[in-house]
Amino acid sequence: MCGVVGIISQKPVASELYDSLIYLQHRGQDAAGITTYNQRFHTKKGVGYVRDIFDERNMSRLIGNVGIGHTRYPTTGKYSKEDAQPVWTGVPYGIAMAHNGNLVNQYEMVDELSEKDGRHLNTSVDVEVILHVFAGKLEEIRNDGANGEFFDQICQAVQEVFRRVSGAYSVICMIVGKGLVVFRDPHGIRPLTKGSRKADNGKKDYIFASEPAVFYALGYEMENDVAPGEVIYISENGNYHSRTLETKNFTPCIFEYVYFSRPDATLDDVSVYRARLRMGQNLAKLWQAEYPDLLPDIIIPAPATSNNAALAMANMLGIKYSEGLYKNPFIGRTFIMPGQQTRKKSIRYKLVPISYEIKDKKVMIVDDSIVRGNTSKEIVKMVRDFCAKEVYVVSACPPITHPCFYGVDIPTRSELIASNKTVEAIRKHINADILLYQNLDDLIEAVTRKGEHDIYRPCAACLDGNYITGNVDGHKISELEHQRNNQRARI
Ligand code: SF4
Repeated sequence: MCGVVGIISQKPVASELYDSLIYLQHRGQDAAGITTYNQRFHTKKGVGYVRDIFDERNMSRLIGNVGIGHTRYPTTGKYSKEDAQPVWTGVPYGIAMAHNGNLVNQYEMVDELSEKDGRHLNTSVDVEVILHVFAGKLEEIRNDGANGEFFDQICQAVQEVFRRVSGAYSVICMIVGKGLVVFRDPHGIRPLTKGSRKADNGKKDYIFASEPAVFYALGYEMENDVAPGEVIYISENGNYHSRTLETKNFTPCIFEYVYFSRPDATLDDVSVYRARLRMGQNLAKLWQAEYPDLLPDIIIPAPATSNNAALAMANMLGIKYSEGLYKNPFIGRTFIMPGQQTRKKSIRYKLVPISYEIKDKKVMIVDDSIVRGNTSKEIVKMVRDFCAKEVYVVSACPPITHPCFYGVDIPTRSELIASNKTVEAIRKHINADILLYQNLDDLIEAVTRKGEHDIYRPCAACLDGNYITGNVDGHKISELEHQRNNQRARI
């Protein structure tokens, strides 16, 4: 899970990249980085929150009208400054790159790049694989005489990435003396949005970002999403080139709508906020079908991602909606905090039950999803401690049974409570009187019901085990889980 941004402008970009990273902070809180260039690259990277890494002194070094930025939560690699993005190589031209996603064949590609391509990888992050495949092809073309349009050369290099690299990747890179390049994998699993504005000299500035939240603040207008399999190149003098090289079934991540993205985002022509409202509507219908004679006294979201679904569900059922669990806004989201101990501690620190809203009531807690079950268990305990009569837990997402290998920290099967427990066993484990999960079909319907989108079917591999890149079978899942566990042991 990461946030990525790139800007090519008629004026210096560093401060706008910084602002963009603040707006993308929810997508990764462990590290961040910015690289700009004029004659050469200028980089500042660090571990921690964006506001703690950058200051006036280091920002003043980030000169240039082209730049890229990244916020990181590692799904591969280490929690270190060395593994923060952007990463770069000096050959050919000087290329810096950042991405959001995760590769399925990272380890095979590291060996191949080292043994066959003769390229040395210096970090353990998967974007470096993409960087070297891309750079290697550009270098090969250059050594062969490099005739013709530079955009054609870029297209060949991206096509080589599509051929050799499997997984999810939304990539932003810049090439010294050339400009900005972005591309999105042919399934379009991770989001990538595009905005533009008119510069004072009449030319156009462009911004690309995982989510468009910052566009309005910076004066950009959302144009559209980068299409699956599309590559865009904007040269230093502002010429815009675009080509769709390859398309497969368009399967954007459904979890972006459930949990990950901000509600103000519109991704791939679907409003995240509206999708969450529809999730609540579908949950209300499911509740009425399953429990026609039972209604809670109050509906409380597990804040804040499930607020929209809980509100819609309360409206449909005609039940009072209450924010009876107050969230401390200065504590980060527990799902993306490393380490079990930190997570357990932070749930109680971040949520405070409001007694008046809970005492002697049948309380329905609506959560966006249940990953390990620890948060749900603790919330049920809190609500019971504050004397709820009964506690019903409703999840806007179906049971999460499989790990994600496409860029979201949904871990190994042994850590996923729904991977090895029935719904009834989970209900007992979290000590709820009722546990109701959204159906997968209803969730997909909620995401795809409206919008002029081209979505074939969202990726839901963590919910149904259908990994759309096609090369993730039982053996591969075990291998990737093993690699994940080894990596964690080294952290
Ligand atoms: Fe998203 Fe789940 Fe697919 Fe990962 S496996 S990309 S979290 S839907």
